[in-house]
Amino acid sequence: MKVQSFTPPQRILMGAGPSDIHPRVLAALSRPTIGHLDPEFIRLMDEVKEMLQASFFTENALTLPISAPGSAGMEAAFANLLEPGDKVVVCVNGVFGQRMAANAVRMGCEVALVEEEWGKAVDPQKVADTLARHQDAKVLAFVHAETSTGAASDAQTLCRLAGEHGCLSLVDAVTSWCGMPVLADDWQADVVYSGTQKCLSCVSGLSPITFSERARQAILERRHPIQSWFLDMQLVMGYWQEGEQRVYHHTAPINALFALHEALVMLLEEGLEQSWARHWAMHERLRDGLESLGLELMVEPAARLPMLNVVKIPEGVDDARVRSLMLEDFGLEISAGLGPMKGKIWRIGLMGNGCRPDHVDRCLEALSASLSKARR
Ligand SMILES: *Cc1c(COP(=O)(O)O)cnc(C)c1O
Repeated sequence: MKVQSFTPPQRILMGAGPSDIHPRVLAALSRPTIGHLDPEFIRLMDEVKEMLQASFFTENALTLPISAPGSAGMEAAFANLLEPGDKVVVCVNGVFGQRMAANAVRMGCEVALVEEEWGKAVDPQKVADTLARHQDAKVLAFVHAETSTGAASDAQTLCRLAGEHGCLSLVDAVTSWCGMPVLADDWQADVVYSGTQKCLSCVSGLSPITFSERARQAILERRHPIQSWFLDMQLVMGYWQEGEQRVYHHTAPINALFALHEALVMLLEEGLEQSWARHWAMHERLRDGLESLGLELMVEPAARLPMLNVVKIPEGVDDARVRSLMLEDFGLEISAGLGPMKGKIWRIGLMGNGCRPDHVDRCLEALSASLSKARR
């Protein structure tokens, strides 16, 4: 056994997350720990909640960061809204849609799938048809920004369809949040969850989530207790509810919340609209550069995500070798394809603090050099 400190190498993170954390956020992380029921910590929790509401464009009282990664946000959304025997319509156009369906199956729900070709947006017409065939569905679940394929779906339209069919809408905004509009109240979305390590560029391991009043009511009216004790919002609410006496549920990840607070301050200093515009401008810079290298984007222009750019790997090029050359020679990480897309695509992230012109240019340089080296 080697007992010595670990010093990570310097990297530029341009994969599907985590993204590069700003020094201000890292500095906040290293501030002295205080107790999680300290009045000053409670003040921080209130401020985090308010800033999260601003970031989701919502007035929802039940808005908080779950003390676990985006996958726990997904699980919390399903576990709290659904009960065994409930019917849920799940849209699947990539890996994260598949995970949603797996969550629903494990919760003992009846699942109706709306499947779409990977790399395409979810088709609202198919969703409308499926909802019409399943009048008893309680929830419509979909991924706003499918990180496995780089495709955006029309969240506003899908939430509207859910509302028209008397369903609650459950939205995965892990990759989209902070990098493109996520407008919980405008969309009348019922549950929206995200993760902190993507376009917010905070530490991984936190999942901001917001529940509408309708969703909160549905949780209060459940017939069965929520099968997950840790993710039971009825219990977590007691810990995060504003103004009330906070009741111990679990120990919050105190320093991670210092980091979240700072990352949210930075986000609001820049402004959400400015952040969206920056993500879009960097996407265009990257797209132009990729096209001039003769590379092709997989997703059609109308459905492209700015923060997650999917490139087709040219014929005869060794996927793993190019990525390892980029990492070794340039210290720059991009992501491989997931599941059936492995070996077919690269995923280049432009997320949060890492979404900058120097990174785009460095990535193009690294990709170009590594491609020619790998072809030799
Ligand atoms: C990354 C991601 C998740 C999972 O988040 P973790 O923090 O890795 O658990 C869920 N959904 C989507 C769309 C993602 O991109």
